[in-house]
Amino acid sequence: MRIGVLALQGDFALHAKALQRCGADAVEVRKPEQLHDVDGLIIPGGESTTLLKLMNEWGFVPALEKFHAAGKPIFGTCAGLIVTARDVTNPPQLSLGLIDVGVERNAYGRQRESFETGGTATLDGRRVPIEMVFIRAPRIRRVGPGVETLAAHGDEPVMARQGSVLVATFHPELTDDPTVHRYFCQMVKGREAPSA
Ligand code: GLN
Repeated sequence: MRIGVLALQGDFALHAKALQRCGADAVEVRKPEQLHDVDGLIIPGGESTTLLKLMNEWGFVPALEKFHAAGKPIFGTCAGLIVTARDVTNPPQLSLGLIDVGVERNAYGRQRESFETGGTATLDGRRVPIEMVFIRAPRIRRVGPGVETLAAHGDEPVMARQGSVLVATFHPELTDDPTVHRYFCQMVKGREAPSA
């Protein structure tokens, strides 16, 4: 199983390490053509305005729309969530609309720009503890009817899934906790064609 990490900007290297720990081959994706060679893709955190600009420059927008239409799983964390969301505020910016959530950027305010906390996720019907690191994180302000909330912080969703698209407002790659990457690897594995 080969999983790409979009390597235009942001913290892609630690995602690659986390994927390798799950037994996946991690590929740093810098050109849209490379999407043909991977079974799933992580869009990492960073700065979403810059990320979006680079994605446009390199022709990633139509390529990712095709990738998504083919049912290949995508995992967007933090800025990666912001670029995949349906709508974005603070300030508004264009996004791919691959998951029906509304997000507000930099929504924790100055005092709580970055923090680490433990929480509980519900994955495949089982409640499991997860570690979460938030860095200038967005908040998910609206969850569409087709979207399942997989983890919450207080009563706010911080991890959600709609079909083949998984998103988190936090950075699972900055912890030693492999739970979230393992879950994404399972999503990718689950849709790979069985070998003949
Ligand atoms: N604050 C960033 C943005 O709005 C996201 C931060 C992150 O990815 N850690 O794009």
